[in-house]
Amino acid sequence: MGRRARSPLLAALLALAALLAPQSVWAAASLRLEFIDVGQGDAALVTSPTGKTVLIDGGPRKSSAALLTFLTRHTHGPLDLILLTHRHEDHLGGLAVAVNEIGARQFIDAPISHSGRAYAALLRVLEARGVIVRQATRGRQIDLGGGVTMTLVGPPDPPIVDSRSDVNANSVVVRVTYGKFAALFTGDAEAPTEAWLLASGADLGASVLKVPHHGSRYASGVRFLRAVHARIAIISAGAENDYGHPAPQTLERLARSGATVYRTDLEGDVALETDGQEIQVQTARGRQQTLQVP
Ligand SMILES: [Zn+2]
Repeated sequence: MGRRARSPLLAALLALAALLAPQSVWAAASLRLEFIDVGQGDAALVTSPTGKTVLIDGGPRKSSAALLTFLTRHTHGPLDLILLTHRHEDHLGGLAVAVNEIGARQFIDAPISHSGRAYAALLRVLEARGVIVRQATRGRQIDLGGGVTMTLVGPPDPPIVDSRSDVNANSVVVRVTYGKFAALFTGDAEAPTEAWLLASGADLGASVLKVPHHGSRYASGVRFLRAVHARIAIISAGAENDYGHPAPQTLERLARSGATVYRTDLEGDVALETDGQEIQVQTARGRQQTLQVP
C-alpha cells in the first residue's frame, strides 16, 4: 500500500469529523489519555501538555475507520510516536491506515516476531512513509514534553519463553508519569509478565491501569494489582467478544483492589485528563468522575 489519493467517502468522513471536532474542551496544561473503542482490541492515544502524541496500539483492521475518525478529531498533524505492544492483529490491524492517513514520525516495534499479513502490510506502509522504526528496549525513557515522561518498564529481559503465548507475554509495558500521576499500559501481558515486572524492581505504582489482555482471567493477579494500586482500571474489549473478555474473576479482583473499572465495550471511548494532581474521567456514554491523584 503506497501513498494514494483519499477516496471521496474517506474525504467526506474526515471533513465531517473535523467539523464535529470539540473546541478546546481540554485545558492546555494537561495530559490526556484516551482509550479508543476499537471493538475487540487495544488503542490508546496519549497527548502531552505540549501536544506531543503517542498512539499505543491501533486496534484491529476492521475498526480502522473508527480509529481514523478518532485520530482526525483529536490530533493535528502526524503522530509523534506509535508504540506497538505486541504483534497481534487486534493491536496492529488499524495502524497501516492510521500511518497512511495521519502519518507518524517514529514507530517503536514489539520484540517478538509473529508472522501475519497485517504486520507485513504495516511494515510496508512504515517504510513507504519514511517512519523511523526502533525496537522496544526495557529502560528506554521518552520525554513527551511539559513534564511528561514515558518509560518502557518492559518487554521482559531476557524474553519470557514457553508461556501460553510468548507474543503476549513479551508485550511492551509502558509507564507514563506526570507530576504525582502515573498510568501503566500493559498490552496483553499475563501472569508470567506480571511476575517478571514485580521481580524487576520497576516502580509499577499507577493511578490508572490499562488492564492487561482485555481483562483475561490469566492476567491481573492479586499481587500485581496490589503493586499497581490503581484508582482507575480501563478494560479495552469488544462487546460480546468470543473470548469472554473481561472474565468475571478478573472483574472481581479489580473491584477488590479498589479500582473503578471503565470498559470500552460498555462505555465507548474513555477519556482521562490530568494536571498531575486531579484526574477527570469522561466516557462517550456520559459517565464522569473526578478524583485526586493519591
Ligand atoms: Zn489483544
